[in-house]
Amino acid sequence: MTTSASAPLRSGALLIGGEHVSVSSGGTHQHIYPGNGRCNATIPLAGGSEVDAAVDSSWDAHRQWTSYPVDRRRDLLMNLADAVRDHFTELTELNVHDFGAPISTAGHSVLTEQFLRYYAGYADKAHGSSTPVSGAFDVNIIEREPYGVVGVIAPWNGPLVVIGAAVAPALAAGNAVILKPSELASLGPLRFGELCLEAGLPPGLVNVLPAGPDGGQALVRHPRIGKIHFTGGQATAQKVLQAAATNLTPVVAELGGKSAFLVFADADLDASATIAAYQGPIVQAGQSCACASRILVQASVYDAFMDKFVAAVHAAKIGDPMQPDVMFGPVVSQDATDRILRIIDATLSERAGELITGGNRLGGDLADGYYIEPTIFGNVDNHSALAQNETFGPVAAVMPFADEADAIRLANDTRYGLNAFIQTSNLKRAHSVARHLQAGSIWVNRHSDIEPQGPYGGYKQSGFGRTGGIEGLHEFLQTKNIRIGMN
Ligand code: NAD
Repeated sequence: MTTSASAPLRSGALLIGGEHVSVSSGGTHQHIYPGNGRCNATIPLAGGSEVDAAVDSSWDAHRQWTSYPVDRRRDLLMNLADAVRDHFTELTELNVHDFGAPISTAGHSVLTEQFLRYYAGYADKAHGSSTPVSGAFDVNIIEREPYGVVGVIAPWNGPLVVIGAAVAPALAAGNAVILKPSELASLGPLRFGELCLEAGLPPGLVNVLPAGPDGGQALVRHPRIGKIHFTGGQATAQKVLQAAATNLTPVVAELGGKSAFLVFADADLDASATIAAYQGPIVQAGQSCACASRILVQASVYDAFMDKFVAAVHAAKIGDPMQPDVMFGPVVSQDATDRILRIIDATLSERAGELITGGNRLGGDLADGYYIEPTIFGNVDNHSALAQNETFGPVAAVMPFADEADAIRLANDTRYGLNAFIQTSNLKRAHSVARHLQAGSIWVNRHSDIEPQGPYGGYKQSGFGRTGGIEGLHEFLQTKNIRIGMN
């Protein structure tokens, strides 16, 4: 198959201290475009020596950044937001090249821009406070200070969102950032690094180091990194926490989920089916942390909902992600394809659910890409691997529940706690069920619209720390108490 994204794009280069570095100690990654399985870029990977150089340059940039008056920092972050807005098309296309997100849904830089504008507004407002103390005339000041240089480790499935959610508040708080994107998706982050320079940020304030696990470990273990902001999977988070223990470096962990989507009998079933289809197997082929992968439906409307849900899933056009009307594209890699097909096979062989639709890799014109049919299993056992593990692919597990208490029990019966969704026309029920769900974000009668004003993050094994809101800013500030004796 030929797609508009099949030609080799460019050779990447690390960005350290404002310079492109194309020869590095971590080797190179031949990047594959998921739409056709062909190499479209060669990415140099950072190793220990590039991490050392980036840390030095970031500390220099941090000193320069914090020497600027706060209103200048605010204006420069606004400039950066403008630059991101002006490069919307380019950044969207890079998302497609990076991980095969359909171009119709790949405009993540809108969020990058929104986060930058929101946190730019905090650059001159992230102040501390003062408090009375026992010494009647003493002055007690509580200050908030940046960590200096922070590492932001991003997953492949939404690096521009993570850049908004983590890099923007880190900069607004006065830090320099070493951004480590996944080797599977580094073209967009590298371009963002260039835009930082074009917007007038000091060279080295945002260094961009694509790297695999070794480069990631070197960054986390570095003794001069003040904090690590990690977004990714649970297994990697455990390695990051072990490495961070070397220097007792604090870590924020934004991890995966197995989010329940609750459809009560009083819900608008058409809207519920449409949202569940998009939020479940369709958007980014189910490769989203906010994915609604367990669809829980009240038994009395189970059949009616299932008919509408299957129809909504089938309505999504499948194909080359560069085509504007395509809604459903490939998964990210051959490894992901194999892993997801193994989960489907295991669900079938263990009779953990009834296959309603899908289940196969797509052939024909799409055979060279990593396309798996949108797949729905019905009457799934909530103790099965399909229901308990993050699939990160286009596979929905649907199961019935009897009543409100049963819905809450099933929804919470998971080690994850990132999101949950409630579809109901009963406001009292929405409030009550939301309070009982063990998840960091609850969406009632809507998609998972992430916005900079709302703190986002996990309960249980979906992580700790928050992005967004004042909570997201405070992740990048440490508190100092200064008491001045006046007697
Ligand atoms: P991943 O855990 O494989 O990798 C995440 C990042 O860690 C990548 O940059 C990777 O190169 C790096 N890394 C890998 N091994 C490392 C090591 N030993 N030390 C340091 N860094 C290392 O995750 P992924 O496949 O890139 O992303 C998908 C996962 O991210 C899913 O679980 C998804 O739910 C989660 N996610 C969570 C959120 C959220 O906000 N909670 C957002 C997006 C994605």
